Amino acid sequence: MCEEVNAKIATDISSSVDNFLFDCDGVLWNANEVIPGSLETVKGLKALGKRIFYVTNNSTKTRAEYAQKCVKLGFPATEDDIVCTSYISALYLHNMNFKGKIYVVGNPSIGAELDRFGLRHTGIGPDPPDEDQPAFQPVPGLDLDPEIKCVLVGFDKYISYPKIMKAASYARQEGNIFLATNEDSHLPMDVPYVVPGTGSIVTSVKVAARKEPVVMGKPQTNMFKCLQEAHNLDPSRCMMVGDRCNTDISMATNCGMRSLLVLTGVSTLADVGAYKASGDPTHATYVPTYYASRLGQLGKLLGL
Ligand code: PLP
Ligand code: CA
Repeated sequence: MCEEVNAKIATDISSSVDNFLFDCDGVLWNANEVIPGSLETVKGLKALGKRIFYVTNNSTKTRAEYAQKCVKLGFPATEDDIVCTSYISALYLHNMNFKGKIYVVGNPSIGAELDRFGLRHTGIGPDPPDEDQPAFQPVPGLDLDPEIKCVLVGFDKYISYPKIMKAASYARQEGNIFLATNEDSHLPMDVPYVVPGTGSIVTSVKVAARKEPVVMGKPQTNMFKCLQEAHNLDPSRCMMVGDRCNTDISMATNCGMRSLLVLTGVSTLADVGAYKASGDPTHATYVPTYYASRLGQLGKLLGL
């Protein structure tokens, strides 16, 4: 396992895969910059008749907004080709016929996806400043709403102590559902500081609530199952391409797909070596079938 893609493997992939599932950030682009070779490869695979899907743990856009971003950068996409964690969270609650109200930590796009399914929520936005209140005192607006039966935690760059307090209080309540869009530790950005990801926000809520959330995004299987149902996908004819072993590659393994790790994002070959050596069964799911320096390496080998 974890062979470097060469000409023979590329040809095998081309003949045995009908559906390519791409993680976005770190595979297709970094922030708003297309990674050289990715565009040609995706467009070339589509021209060969392959189906292309985009599977992202990012919760800050709706499916429609993600499709717009893809198209703006040149990647062929419609809303139906996208699964993002704002959408999958709303779909999950819709499918369970959830009728209560949702306390959301997130951004307006999560609210928009919930609205599309007619799911009631608290609305999104920075809480009012709380500077006059000692942190350990009840804060304004902390009267708990008895209609709230679910907490959904996604990426929120305005995360605050009162929001953690409210989210943990609702999550802790007996019978309430506690969902997290994803648990990515940090966002890989080319800056000299750490950019905390949704995982750091989720952790602050779950530690206080003393309860584990149900995670919607990769490495869980929800996003693949949603595509599988909608498009009748056979996992043995799918390839997941990702840059993060503990999310993208692990989801592929958990779903019975092959996987291709590209080295343009978070995970390195040294990480893969450590996962192989650890003997931990969870780490075994992080080991990809193949790797390539970048997605464009596959495209080049296929003459795309
Ligand atoms: N969550 C947020 C808020 C992000 O901005 C990103 C990447 O930009 C991600 C998650 C990871 O996205 P992906 O699964 O496409 O790598
Ligand atoms: Ca990624």
